Amino acid sequence: MSKRDYYEVLGVSKSASKDEIKKSYRKLSKKYHPDINKEADADEKFKEVKEAYEVLSDDQKRAHYDQFGHTDPNQGFGGGDFGGGFGGFEDIFSTFFGGGGRRKDPNAPRQGADLQYTMSLSFEEAVFGKETDIEIPREETCETCDGSGAKPGTKPETCRHCHGSGQLNVEQNTPFGKIVNRRVCQYCSGTGKEIKEKCQTCGGTGKVTKRKKIHVKIPAGIDDGQQLRVTGQGEPGINGGPPGDLYVVFHVRGHEFFEREADDIYCEMPITFVQAALGDEIEVPTLHGKVKLKVPAGTQTGTRFRLKGKGVPNVRGYGNGDQHILVRIVTPTKLTEKQKQLLQEFGEVSGQVPQGEQEESFFAKVKRAFKGE
Ligand SMILES: [Zn+2]
Ligand SMILES: [Zn+2]
Repeated sequence: MSKRDYYEVLGVSKSASKDEIKKSYRKLSKKYHPDINKEADADEKFKEVKEAYEVLSDDQKRAHYDQFGHTDPNQGFGGGDFGGGFGGFEDIFSTFFGGGGRRKDPNAPRQGADLQYTMSLSFEEAVFGKETDIEIPREETCETCDGSGAKPGTKPETCRHCHGSGQLNVEQNTPFGKIVNRRVCQYCSGTGKEIKEKCQTCGGTGKVTKRKKIHVKIPAGIDDGQQLRVTGQGEPGINGGPPGDLYVVFHVRGHEFFEREADDIYCEMPITFVQAALGDEIEVPTLHGKVKLKVPAGTQTGTRFRLKGKGVPNVRGYGNGDQHILVRIVTPTKLTEKQKQLLQEFGEVSGQVPQGEQEESFFAKVKRAFKGE
C-alpha cells in the first residue's frame, strides 16, 4: 500500500510556510480526533495527519522527505511500493476508471505526473556519490500554442457534447431498468474543450516530448534499490498546476572483492596456515585504501576482524560503516619434496590430533557421537 504524500495529507503546497503547516495540522487533527470523529477511518486519518505533521514541522525531516520521498534510504526500497506514481486509492480510481464520480472540474489545475528513471551505478560510485547529468524524455508544454493545442491565432472552444464538464451521461438498459452512467466525454477526451484548428507542432495535444537534461547529485552511500526525489522535474502540470517529481531509482552493481550490507563492507582474506599459526601482519584492501591488519598467532579459519569506520559513508551523514574481514586459511595443494618432508616432520612432532582447544573439544564430540553417548 503506497503512502499518501505528506503535503497532500495536510492539504498544503510544497512551498507552504511553517505557519501554514501548523494551522492545517490543528484544523485536521481536530477534525479527525477519535474522541470527536466517530467515522470508521477517523483514527487512521488522525494518525496519518500526525505523521505528516511530525515530518513537515521538522526542518531537517522535511528537507529529507523532499529529497527522498517516503522511502527511507536506510530502509532500502520495498518491492514495487514505489513512492511516486499512485498516491492511494483516489488516484488508482481516476487512473483505471477514467475518473468516475469523483472527478473534479477538467479545467482545475492539476499536478503533473511523476516520472521514474532507473540509473545504474558502479559499486564505488554508490559508495562515494557523484554528480552527473541525465537525459530523460519528458512531455513539455508546446511552445507554439502555449499548451492550448489550438493553432496560433485560434482558441479552443467549449466542447459542444459535454458543455465543458468533460463527462457525458450514458443511459444503459439493463434487466433492472435504466442506469445512467457517467463517463469521460469521447469528443474532447475529458478536457471539456474542442479544438477546431489544431496546432501543427503538437497535433492538438498541447504537449511535445523533449529530452531534457537534468543535473543529479547522488549522495555518497546510496544503496541498491534506493531512490532520490528531484522535486519539480516530473511532467508539467495541467491547467497551470505544479509539475510532478522525478524519482531516480538506483541499481548498484556488485564488486568482485567486497560485499555490502547497508553501510558495512564484508570481504574474505585468504592466509596461509603458517601465517595463521605464527601470526603476521597482512595488507587488506578497503574502499579507503590499503590497511594493515595484525593476525594474531593461532588464528583459526573463519575468524572475523573488524576495521572500524572503513565501510560506506552513511547516506544521511551519520558517519561510516565498518569493514568486516573473514579470514580463510588456505591449505596448500602443490607441495615440493622439501615442503612435504618438513610437513611430515611437523606432523610427527605434533601427533595426529589437531592442536588447539577448540579442535580437541570438537573431536571429543565426534568420538562421543560414534560411541552413541
Ligand atoms: Zn466533451
Ligand atoms: Zn501546440
